Amino acid sequence: MNTINDDYTTISFLKQEVNKFVIERDWCKYHTPKNLVQALNCEAGELSQLLLFKDHSRENILDNEDLLSKIRDEAADVLIYLISLVNSLGFDLTSAFIEKMKKNKKKYDILEFNDGKYYKK
Ligand SMILES: [Mg+2]
Repeated sequence: MNTINDDYTTISFLKQEVNKFVIERDWCKYHTPKNLVQALNCEAGELSQLLLFKDHSRENILDNEDLLSKIRDEAADVLIYLISLVNSLGFDLTSAFIEKMKKNKKKYDILEFNDGKYYKK
């Protein structure tokens, strides 16, 4: 059974994998927070470019093996640079996620945003 998937893989494992990759190539000197944020944005741009000026529905993307593969690659690139940024600054991503979700739940209160509304008036 393949246990390298979202159900069984920890963020800690991903952080170690990215850290090992960076150290083995002696890239730490390039991985400043500024460079990592900019690289993350470049990868998010590559992901965005795949859908730019096209009206792919979700079903259309799922039926397009080549496009889905490219989206997976770019999504992974975004995650890799995000993980590298987290490694560089040494914070706990799960704690950051939990704390931000708490803020989001408060900001987008379920009683106010339970009808599909996506913004405050
Ligand atoms: Mg890329």
